[in-house]
Amino acid sequence: MFRLDGKVALVTGGSRGIGRATAEAMAAQGATVIVNYVRGEAAAREVADGIIAKGGKAEIAGFDVADTPATEKALEAIVKAQGRFDILVANAGIAIDGLLLRVKDEDLDKLFATNVKGALTCARVASRTMMRAKTGRMIFLSSVVGEMGNTGQTAYAATKAAIIGAAKSIAREYAGRNITSNVVAPGFIETDMTHGMNDAAKEYINKQIPLGRTGTAAEVAAACVYLASDEASYVTGQVLRVNGGMYV
Ligand code: NAP
Repeated sequence: MFRLDGKVALVTGGSRGIGRATAEAMAAQGATVIVNYVRGEAAAREVADGIIAKGGKAEIAGFDVADTPATEKALEAIVKAQGRFDILVANAGIAIDGLLLRVKDEDLDKLFATNVKGALTCARVASRTMMRAKTGRMIFLSSVVGEMGNTGQTAYAATKAAIIGAAKSIAREYAGRNITSNVVAPGFIETDMTHGMNDAAKEYINKQIPLGRTGTAAEVAAACVYLASDEASYVTGQVLRVNGGMYV
């Protein structure tokens, strides 16, 4: 079940956190994984080397998803080198938190450029190859706050809500080409993104989670693997929530 043998997958932001776990999980299911990063070349190399050491196939690709020409060039190079492009995991993302009154204009631009424009640029370029192949899987990382909102995260939540609307539209637009588009919406997952929170904040959040704990990157990765697999062939336009019941 859930094998990805022979498939080529790009995981943006695959050097750390949820992206890293997804890259490793997809490689374990047989996919050739392209591990993208923007700054963390050593971390991305470590992920790829770890996959290769276990008998899997992986490469690294450094580019900033917010830089459209660089992203287009990188994805075209992947298609040229691999000859196919089956799975896009648009995971690269940043969080800049703050109450609305204090949100800076440049932070809004950075958030939307990375979390929304970056994901859609990848989807646009990937879709060319997927349309020709008449098959493909797009998986977009949103967040529980994109659906339920959160104090101090208005700007970030807006980007994560935007990605849901985009993924659902892509699902309708590309269904005729057998390309599925789905969202994975994690709750509170232990990664670098959430590492900076103090214990009191973490304790408060744990109380909002019916399962009583934060999630792991591997638990989110498993949802991505499922959506990329043949077993999910009839699932499109959906939001798969991996949040311990925090939002139902
Ligand atoms: P993370 O640990 O902070 O890792 C972020 C990853 O994105 C890194 O690999 C980073 O690369 C990459 N990245 C950031 N900006 C990039 C850019 N402009 N171009 C290319 N790559 C870029 O984040 P995470 O917690 O795993 O989150 C992954 C995704 O899940 C994000 O979209 C996030 O919004 C979403 N999410 C996370 C949580 C959570 O609780 N952690 C909850 C809900 C949703 P470098 O290593 O090169 O910096």
